[in-house]
Amino acid sequence: MYEGVSSPIIHRPKTLSEFAQTSQKATSPLIWSGGSSIMTGKNTYPLINSNFDSIIYLGDIKELEDFQRNDRIAEFGAMVNLYDLANYGKNVLPSILLEAINSIGVSIITKRATLGGALSIVNPVTSIVPVMIALNASVELRYMKKKRFKNHWIQASQLIDKNGQISIPPKGLITKVRVGVSDMSTFGKFLKAGSYNRSPEETVFGAFVTHVNQNTLSQAHLVLTFPTVGTYTSRDMDNIFNSLKFPIGKDGESSLIKSISTFIDSSFSILPLQKALLEGFIEDIVGSLNEIALTEPNYAKGESYE
Ligand SMILES: Cc1cc2nc3c(=O)[nH]c(=O)nc-3n(C[C@H](O)[C@H](O)[C@H](O)COP(=O)(O)OP(=O)(O)OC[C@H]3O[C@@H](n4cnc5c(N)ncnc54)[C@H](O)[C@@H]3O)c2cc1C
Repeated sequence: MYEGVSSPIIHRPKTLSEFAQTSQKATSPLIWSGGSSIMTGKNTYPLINSNFDSIIYLGDIKELEDFQRNDRIAEFGAMVNLYDLANYGKNVLPSILLEAINSIGVSIITKRATLGGALSIVNPVTSIVPVMIALNASVELRYMKKKRFKNHWIQASQLIDKNGQISIPPKGLITKVRVGVSDMSTFGKFLKAGSYNRSPEETVFGAFVTHVNQNTLSQAHLVLTFPTVGTYTSRDMDNIFNSLKFPIGKDGESSLIKSISTFIDSSFSILPLQKALLEGFIEDIVGSLNEIALTEPNYAKGESYE
């Protein structure tokens, strides 16, 4: 029954400096936070044919459970689980982040899944990734360079390489995440279409965030994730939104959809179903922005469209 299973070596550092020492000594350790994706993944340690020689469990590192906020930002340790994140943050976090967490559904998963884990899974990529990128969140990353651990705050978008793949250096550790608190002038939309768990290859996650100024947009940011293919974000695509004047008619909407499809086609090969889901998302965004443009006086009074 246990053929093919090696006896696991589990390290349990209590501080980040202990983590650094352990990680330096281990040859190819597997970082384990909630374990929700590891336990459901294929070929995971302690299977002999996995790529790892040991586990580094993060659950005893108290520094990774911190949570603090001020008027502008909320900062969470990487071991805060998604359930607590949505609970602590329900009055301050942008609604698209709360929607993404709530869309996972069952609390048995969200109570186990951590923020750091959600940002690190390479395939299938979670919905937390496009949402954090669209929100311009930043991430504290610890990684080894020339045999020493370095600490850097990076934009969440820098977790993605030029091929749209999550790319964290070997033995790299996400320790904290900062996200702006909910802001009345920000409009956001989140898309989860498909099932992450049952058919990730057909699923689409989308996150769109923008400031609305009367009938124009500024700082529009669209991020699209095809969980088994990659994550797409582009300044050129965002600039198309920033150049539009709302309301736009059907022709404007069709040409917007065509441009976005062309951007995606230049980077990824996705299924016709995913393309259709993506088009539905753009239609939804345009519909809401048209509505705002037509009822703009309420918006000017400070009503939130998130
Ligand atoms: C049944 C089920 C349904 C799900 N449905 C959804 C869904 O609808 N939408 C969605 O977005 N997600 C969904 N998920 C995915 C879920 O969000 C992830 O499994 C979870 O976020 C992973 O967090 P974790 O703490 O359990 O990570 P782990 O499983 O512990 O780790 C995940 C990966 O990240 C690495 N890692 C972990 N922490 C760090 C860190 N701090 N720094 C660097 N690397 C790290 C690990 O080495 C591993 O490679 C589902 C998962 C399951 C099991």
